[in-house]
Amino acid sequence: MASLALYNKQNTGKKRVSYFYHSEVGHHYYGPAHPMKPHRLKLAHHLILSYGLYQKMEVYRPHLASASEMTAFHSEDYISFLSRITPDNLRNFSTQMSKFNAGEFTDCPVFDNLFEFTQIYAGCSIDAAIKLNNSQSDIAINWSGGLHHAKKSEASGFCYVNDIVLAILELLKVHARVLYIDIDIHHGDGVEEAFYCTDRVMTASFHKYGDFFPGTGGIKDTGAREGTGFSVNVPLQAGMTDETYAQVFKPVMSKIMETFQPGAVVLQCGADSLTGDRLGCFNLSLNGHAECVQFMKSFDVPLLLLGGGGYTIRNVARCWAYETSVALGTPISNDIPYNDYFEYFSPCFKLHLTPTGQENLNTEESVDKVRTDILQQLQNLEGAPSVQFQEVPPAFMTTMEKGGDDGGKGDDFREGREVGGEVGSEMKRHEQDIGVD
Ligand SMILES: [Zn+2]
Repeated sequence: MASLALYNKQNTGKKRVSYFYHSEVGHHYYGPAHPMKPHRLKLAHHLILSYGLYQKMEVYRPHLASASEMTAFHSEDYISFLSRITPDNLRNFSTQMSKFNAGEFTDCPVFDNLFEFTQIYAGCSIDAAIKLNNSQSDIAINWSGGLHHAKKSEASGFCYVNDIVLAILELLKVHARVLYIDIDIHHGDGVEEAFYCTDRVMTASFHKYGDFFPGTGGIKDTGAREGTGFSVNVPLQAGMTDETYAQVFKPVMSKIMETFQPGAVVLQCGADSLTGDRLGCFNLSLNGHAECVQFMKSFDVPLLLLGGGGYTIRNVARCWAYETSVALGTPISNDIPYNDYFEYFSPCFKLHLTPTGQENLNTEESVDKVRTDILQQLQNLEGAPSVQFQEVPPAFMTTMEKGGDDGGKGDDFREGREVGGEVGSEMKRHEQDIGVD
């Protein structure tokens, strides 16, 4: 019977999907001139509702992440600052605003109920990770998460609290190895930095590289210390098409799944890599973007789907509604159903996007070179003596064993990597909080 159940599950492509959403998240406002619009989350949610997809999945309202949950990764003084600052008391915090990169001279403004906003999206990601850890879902979704630029003690690129790092730390309580994939057009620098020195998390980021925020994510940045080879960076150019993206994404991810064998996968689905994005310069259709979701789903490993960037908000809603349907294996119509935000989808009222005639600067040769270099990096991992994938001990044991050399900062890292070096000890404290060790 067991084998029959497995057979049916694989053939129908049906997964148990849980979806995390808080009705207040879309009411937060970065300001009139700011491109990040949490309102897009309301558009996406209502589109998902109008397609009837909520009937096929478990829908949850998250708990609000506490400050102590956030300090599993972030520093206490930074979280204390985020929890206290408001537009009305700014003048008392000028030194800290500069130190933590927040306020009017940065891209991370202080707005009303900022901390509650971070509590919502981080709470969703943590709850989603717990759902996967308990084997209660095959796929968990939080479109309000994926804020990949936030650092341990610094806001960056519209991101304050790094919900992705918090979710991965949660997954590491159960899984020996976690894979992070980032298809936002920007480099997933905050997540990469957090896990740059560990072999328990592999990060793979596909992004525009060269004269583009945040400037990191070169192909030669592959990790440090025990994490050497476990950071994968795929630098790409403007005009990226569905076809070219698949030519690099699929072989790289296949090789990663084969060599790294993660117990869980986190996929950040930033929608600023779509055609027509206000800040992006790729030319992907919904199909090309969602093909990454479909492809990772096919490996039958617990999967956490997160949002991220996305600045043409009607297309963000289209993208995440469609990717919800892909996660569910439920086809949906190309005609947008009537909903509270129907007018946003004017004039065509269609779901799918048509790429433009923009030139694709990713040539056959450039993509071939990138793919070859990365496959070689992954090939080298297989021969690395420290990598014994079949014999990785449970999470808490690994953490304890590594405790002795976590604090060393003398190694020759790239500027700023010291922060990542401390994640091991942060992780240990996180686990002590719940009494694992
Ligand atoms: Zn982005």
